[in-house]
Order: sequence, then structure tokens, then C-alpha cells
Amino acid sequence: MADKVLRPAINALLKAAAAAFLVCPPFFSPVLVTPLYAGAALDSLNEIITPVEPPAVPAVAPPSAYPAASVSAARALNVYFISVGQGDCEYIELPNGKNVLIDGGPSDSADSPLAEFLARHNVTKIDYVVLSHPHSDHYKGLRYVFNNFTVGNFYDTRMDNAGSATDNALRDQIRDLGVNVTYPAPGDTLDWDSNVQAKVFNSCPASTQSSSGRDINNCSIVIKVAYQHSSVLFTGDMENEVESALVSTYGSELQADVLKVGHHGSKYSTSEAFLAAVKPHDAYISVGAGNNYGFPTFACLSRLQAAGATVYRTDTDGTQKYSSGGASPSLTGQALAFMR
Ligand SMILES: [Zn+2]
Repeated sequence: MADKVLRPAINALLKAAAAAFLVCPPFFSPVLVTPLYAGAALDSLNEIITPVEPPAVPAVAPPSAYPAASVSAARALNVYFISVGQGDCEYIELPNGKNVLIDGGPSDSADSPLAEFLARHNVTKIDYVVLSHPHSDHYKGLRYVFNNFTVGNFYDTRMDNAGSATDNALRDQIRDLGVNVTYPAPGDTLDWDSNVQAKVFNSCPASTQSSSGRDINNCSIVIKVAYQHSSVLFTGDMENEVESALVSTYGSELQADVLKVGHHGSKYSTSEAFLAAVKPHDAYISVGAGNNYGFPTFACLSRLQAAGATVYRTDTDGTQKYSSGGASPSLTGQALAFMR
């Protein structure tokens, strides 16, 4: 009697265990998974003893086997905040293999930090060069770039620094080289990469000139670069009156995960209202150690801290690299965070 009762039960359990082993994907440990199915077998024996087809395991091809059309979507967008001393210089590797340089820092020397960076990264050409505004801590290093590299396109603000002749000497050189020059207007989108959105929020597209530092700063080309679920806002040396105008015009469209802090951390940039619109998770200050301006200012750092942004500085942290993406969203299906 006991045998009649026990044998079918034992057989059923053995079948359940075998079925459970079958449905275990090969990359799961049977030690971990089998008890779950065995437990399920006790609850629902009839379902388990029915022959179970192993579930189809999604075919996950290695990155090298992706079709060509998906390659650029699987690549990362890399942003480097180059430690160039007291100045600004950012280098972007686009997912499609092209590259962008925003400003060139304060040195045109062949042994400058920018020159060393470009050599170390085996850069031979630059597809897109942006001059945010004509102050020498932003454009002087571009002389080295145009003297030594092939540049595809140059984006310029139409502000002439009346206090300097060297900004126009650089512009003359660029024109003589035959480089394609564009003066983007606020609202324009830049066709850099079909998977990347690059939108201009500020610039001076109409010809003007000034010797006022503030006027020149406020003609800075401001660009938000967005890729997959992350974005970076490049602000040049924009000051707070333009920040306020952008908040009025664009509002939450300014939101960005990463903020290149305006004007090296000046107290006249990075206002509370601007930070409330941008909501940066990370903030990067391009600034030289021991600079004469007291940058970054306590006021700016305090506002960034109050906004909850994590601050990185090129004077104390050196050149920073940030990456967005790097895998096909259809495979990962999750937000892609910046990495350090
Ligand atoms: Zn500057």
C-alpha cells in the first residue's frame, strides 16, 4: 500500500526534477534554480511533469557581429574636459567616429596639454571645431590646431573682440585654409552624428564687436549634446543675464546630466535659476591652478553644492573623461549613465 502511494509520487518528483533541469538556461546554476522548480513541482505537479520545451534563449551576438547599421548606436559618446590651465578645452568623440573640439585653451605651444592630448589619442584630423567666443584662453590653442591638423568645419560666433587683433588673425587663417565656416544661430541643430542631438542655445550670429569682457562672454556659443539617455551642456563663458534669457526661452529643455560650468566658476555665472533649469548631476569646471581671477569662486561652488551637483575641476582633478552609451539600447534597455 505504501509502495503504491509512494512510487508514483517519487516518479513524479524525479520527472519534475528532470524537467526543472531541462528548463534551466545553461548559464544558471542548477544548484540555485532547481530547488525553485522542485518547489513549484510540489505545488503544481501536473504542469511540471508535462514535457517542457526549454525556453528560447535570446540570441545575443557579440558586438563584432552587429550589422553595420547598428555599429554607431553601439558606440559610446566620449567627452574629455582637458586640463589646459586657465582656459577652456573640450574634446568629444562621437559615436559615428567623428570628433569635435570646443575651444583650444590658452596655449599654441607644441608641448601644450592640448597638443600632448591630441598626440596621445592619435588624432590626425578634427571634423568639427567650435570657438565659443574670442577670448585668448579659448582660441589661442586653436592656432596650434589649425597649424597642425586638417579641420573639416569651424563654428564661430560673430563677435569681434575689439581689444585684440589675434582673434581676427586666426579667423583670417581659417578662411585662407578654405575651412567651411558656420555661424550657428540659437535654435539651430548641428548635423554631427545622426544618433546625437546637438542643439545651439546661444550665439551671436549677426556681426558685432566689443571690447567688453562681459559682452564677449555673452556671445558664447552654448550647445547641448544629447546621446541616448544622457546629455552635456557646454556653456563657454556665458554670464547670468544670458542664462536668465535662456531659462525664459527654453526652460526645461536646458536640462542636462552634465554641465560644463560657465566662465571657469565666476560668481557672475551659474545662477540659481539656471541650475534649477539644468539640474546637473555632474558639473565640470575648467580652471587653472592658482589663477589670478580667484576662479572658481566660493559663490559659484556654493550654488553648485546647493543644487546637488557633484563638482569636478581640471585644476585639482586633471583631465576628465566621461562616456555615454556604448551598448545597443535594444540589448540593455536601460538608462545609460556617465562613467568616470
Ligand atoms: Zn574663459
